Formats: sequence, C-alpha cells, structure tokens
Amino acid sequence: MTYYKRLKVAILNDEFFVTVLLGNKEMAKKAMLCNYPDMDTEVFENTRGCYVCWHMQIPIIWIGLSPKDPHFYATVAHEAIHAIDFIFDEIGETAATEVYAHCVGAVVAKVEQWVKRKKMKHSKGK
Ligand SMILES: [Zn+2]
Repeated sequence: MTYYKRLKVAILNDEFFVTVLLGNKEMAKKAMLCNYPDMDTEVFENTRGCYVCWHMQIPIIWIGLSPKDPHFYATVAHEAIHAIDFIFDEIGETAATEVYAHCVGAVVAKVEQWVKRKKMKHSKGK
C-alpha cells in the first residue's frame, strides 16, 4: 500500500481528538511509536486495522485496508468505537449513547470526506 494519510478528528470539543492513520503500515507504525514508544507492534500483524490509546493520550487508529475494500468502512467504524470507548472512559461517561453514536459517526464521516476528495483528485488526473 503506497498511500499514507493522517487525519485528526475533534470529538465533543477541541479538547478530545482521535488520530486516524490510513494506508502504509510501516509509516503508521512509526507514527504510533512516536506517541506510544512502548506499544506492542504485534497489533499490526494479520489485521485490517488497530488502535492504541493510553491514559491522557490522544487515541490513534490505523486502517490498513484500501478504501476500495468492501470491509474498509466497517473497519473504520470498528476502530472508531475502540477510540470513542476510550475517550468516554476517560471522561467517565457511560449513559449518553446518542452522543457516543455521533462521535463514532464523526470519525467515519471524516474518513469518508478524505476518500471522496482523494477520488475527485484522481478523476481530475492529479
Ligand atoms: Zn477490535
């Protein structure tokens, strides 16, 4: 996989974020290790995507599939749920499922916007 993209998604306000890494596994691994030097990089093996989040850190998710893969958005949603779960744990929120669903949706929507922009650039021959 040749492309690599980093997206930062604001959750609830500008205090909480999810970082989404798309594409190239080695670049994503390097980026995650910058923030989480002790992380177990085994999580990258034999998987469509993974996440890492530790107390007081911005959760990071990685999606290794191409946007053309039929499991791409399911994987984005799966990893987004892990990241949002982490944020809700951090703030002690357990009841607001509607807000939770919107937060997961924010991550998926940001990725979808990037995919659409990428397709438009390609169709213009850039
Ligand atoms: Zn999982």
